[in-house]
Amino acid sequence: MPFYQCKKCKKTWAYLIKECPFCFESLIKLESNQMKVIACSKINIPTLLHPKVPYFALVIEDENGNKYAYKSITEKKVGEEISFVPNNNAVAIWRNKYDFEEAIEKVIDLINGLPLNESSNILVLPTLISPNHSYFRENTSPEFLDAILNVLLKKTKNIKIAGQSFNDNPIELSAQKSGLLDVCLKHDMTPIDLAKNNFIKQNKLEISEEAINSDIILNIPIMKINKASATDNMFKIISKDNYSALKYLHSEELIINELSEIMLNKTITIAEADVVQGHDKFNRYLGLVLAGNNYLNVDKVFDEITMNKEGNNIPIVGRNIKEVQHNTEIL
Ligand SMILES: [Zn+2]
Repeated sequence: MPFYQCKKCKKTWAYLIKECPFCFESLIKLESNQMKVIACSKINIPTLLHPKVPYFALVIEDENGNKYAYKSITEKKVGEEISFVPNNNAVAIWRNKYDFEEAIEKVIDLINGLPLNESSNILVLPTLISPNHSYFRENTSPEFLDAILNVLLKKTKNIKIAGQSFNDNPIELSAQKSGLLDVCLKHDMTPIDLAKNNFIKQNKLEISEEAINSDIILNIPIMKINKASATDNMFKIISKDNYSALKYLHSEELIINELSEIMLNKTITIAEADVVQGHDKFNRYLGLVLAGNNYLNVDKVFDEITMNKEGNNIPIVGRNIKEVQHNTEIL
């Protein structure tokens, strides 16, 4: 995890503050890549947030000598280094501590990066379904979208943000109330209402021309407990009438199969799972960001984390599911 250091007095913080409170200097981000174990203790007492025991509380030291706590499901030896092998078939799991941007960059690294260059066109697809303030966690949060755009803008400027309403809420109103419109405007971007643009027939589906013309679809759903949020969000690139008709005449499964055949190889999902909505509409704190090249797998892994399901056998990279799993029914 990164640390932030005052240029003048060299004091260091583990979270991003605007300026050093002692000398009012701005802070520089210290990269932190090495994770060396300097202490390890076994925990046998379960708590609400850490119900699976035993686990191991580690103290990690990075290459700059900064230290932090880290939970591990396996025992580590003092002196051992923790490292991860990126895997593009895996679902990446990482903790969001204080800085979405850091967690987003980490999960992208863990799935082997985004296949981007300066000329790549990206269509960003946040969850945008209701005109609610961001604390309801109905829609992707403005902080998450902002962090995603900051990360993408380091690679390309050809970014479009799009959505479509499948219910009675006008998308403009949802964009405004959710705070997402402000983020778009801050970055000089005008969000696109896919419903007002062309759709192109591909097999049984009518898919947005914007999606077809993009090199990458970046699916950025906010996750909700007991819902397939990552997959649901992808339906928004299909025309609403076509989606409703196919769902009625056939099944959602057929839509998923056809959509995946056309879109899966150019879709990347980076999912917000920091504060998530439960069945009762109350929010729970999970503190996670997930990523994967297969939105179906992202949903299954999220289910496993929040519903305490066992073994999908989907490859995982980054944090172990058992480390981040807790019973969201009782919290
Ligand atoms: Zn200072």
